[in-house]
Amino acid sequence: MRVLLASSEIYPYSKTGGLADFCHSLIKSLREKEGIDAMGATPLYKSVDIEKFKIKNTGLSVSVILDSREYTFEIFKSKDTYFFYNEKLFGREHIYGPAGQSYHDNDIRFGGFSWAVAKAVAEGLISADVIHANDWQTALIPVILKEVFKSSVKTVFTIHNLAYQGYFDRWMIDRLHLPPHLYNMEALEFWGMVNLLKGGIIFSDFVTTVSEKYAKEILTQDYGWGLEGVLNKYSFKLRGILNGIDYDTWNPKKDKAIWVNYSHADIQKKFENKKKLCEVFNLDFEKPLISFISRLSYQKGVTLILESIRELSYLGANFFFLGSGEYAEHFRGISGIYDNIVSITDFDDTLSRRLFASSDFMLMPSIFEPCGITQMIGMRYGCVPIVRKVGGLEETVKDISEEGWGIVFDNPSKGEMLCAIKRAIDLFYNRKKFLSAVKDCMRLDFSSDSMAKKYLQIYRELTGL
Ligand code: ADP
Repeated sequence: MRVLLASSEIYPYSKTGGLADFCHSLIKSLREKEGIDAMGATPLYKSVDIEKFKIKNTGLSVSVILDSREYTFEIFKSKDTYFFYNEKLFGREHIYGPAGQSYHDNDIRFGGFSWAVAKAVAEGLISADVIHANDWQTALIPVILKEVFKSSVKTVFTIHNLAYQGYFDRWMIDRLHLPPHLYNMEALEFWGMVNLLKGGIIFSDFVTTVSEKYAKEILTQDYGWGLEGVLNKYSFKLRGILNGIDYDTWNPKKDKAIWVNYSHADIQKKFENKKKLCEVFNLDFEKPLISFISRLSYQKGVTLILESIRELSYLGANFFFLGSGEYAEHFRGISGIYDNIVSITDFDDTLSRRLFASSDFMLMPSIFEPCGITQMIGMRYGCVPIVRKVGGLEETVKDISEEGWGIVFDNPSKGEMLCAIKRAIDLFYNRKKFLSAVKDCMRLDFSSDSMAKKYLQIYRELTGL
C-alpha cells in the first residue's frame, strides 16, 4: 500500500510544533515497523537544508492556476518525503509568517500546494492509494481530489488543532479556481467566509483527531470552535487516535544534543545535565527546575504564567521558559529580571532537548490541548509533568495521588496552577517519591508504533488492501 502524508511541516525538515513530530513519527513507523510505502508531501521552504537531507530534484513538475496566474511546482524528493517547490510562494524566511503573524497570501500558498499535490496524484506523477492530509493547510486536497478530479484515491484527514481552521474571504473560491458550487453551506461556506478545515471534514473519507478525549471534546460548544455541528453530523467517520512520539528521535540514551546520555537505570546522569544547564544559566542546582517549552499562544496557558510571575519569583524553584510566537514580547520582558526565572524567546531544537534532559518538571497549563507532544517527550526524558486536566494531557497524565506519575489540576486558573506547582516542589523534596515518579514517567510507552498501527487499520478499511 502506498500512503502519502501531506502536511505543511514535517520534522526534521521543518517544524513549528507537534504537527511536524506527528508526521515524522507516523511516516517512520509505517515505513520501518509496518513495511508500508509511506511518503511525506510538504512545501520546500527556504529554511530546509537540502544538502544535509540529500534532497534531490526529481525533474517532475506540476503547474496550477492561482489567481489567474500559472504557478509551477518542481517536485523534489528525500528518502521519505516529496517536496513541492515554488520560489515565489515558499522561498521565504518563515513557514507561516513572521512571529505570530500570517503571510497575507497563505490561501494561495497552501491552497496552491494542496492543488499541486492533488494534481500530482490524480495525474499519476506520484502514486498513492491513500492520501492523509493534516490541518487546514492541506484540507483542500480531499476536496480537490473528489470535486475536481473525481478521483477514487481514499483520503484521511487529521485535525491537530481545531482552533486553526483556515478562514478566508468568499472570493478565495475564485482565487483558487475552485468549482463555484463549493461555496455552499454543505461544503466550504462558513458564516459568509470560506473555511478550509470544514472542507477537509466533509470531503475526506475518514477524519481523525489526535486523542480520544479531544475527539469527544470537539463535539461540544466549549471546544468545537463553531464546527461542533458539522463534526456531530460527520461523527460517524470521526475517530480519536492518541499521538505518539518516535522513540529513536526522542531518546535520552542516544540524543546527541544533550550533555550526558542516560536512561531510567542510571538516573543520576540526568542530573549531570541539570548541573551543566544550571552552570550555563546561573541557576541554583539544588532547587527544582520547572520548564515550559511551547508555542507562546493563549491556548498554552501563557496568560496564567504571565499573571503569576511575581508569585513564581518567590517560590523555591527555578523556572525556564522557552518559546516563540504571539506572546514572545511579553516573555522577552521578563528575561533577566528574576534570579530564578530564565525566559528565552526562540525556536531552538538543541536547547529544547537540553531542557528536557535537565528539567525536573514540565509545565503545561493549557486552556485546551488536542494531544500535546511536549509532555510525552518530557516524560521520556524523566520530567514529571504538571498539567491541566484537558484533552490529550488528561489522557496521558495521571495524578500521583491516584497512583499516577504527574501533577494534574482541574481548572485553568492562576490559583490552581500555583497550587499544582507548590505540590510539585513538595514532591521534589520527598526524594524517594520524586525519583520513583521520574522513573515511572520514563518507563511509560507513548511510542508512535501503536498510533501507526491504528492509522494503518483505517487505511486498510478504506482501500481493502
Ligand atoms: P503544539 O503542536 O500545539 O505546538 P505540542 O506539545 O503537540 O504542541 O508539540 C510541540 C512541539 O514543538 C514539541 O516537540 C516541542 O518540544 C516543540 N517546541 C515548542 N516550542 C519550542 C521551542 N521554542 N523550541 C524548540 N522546540 C519547541
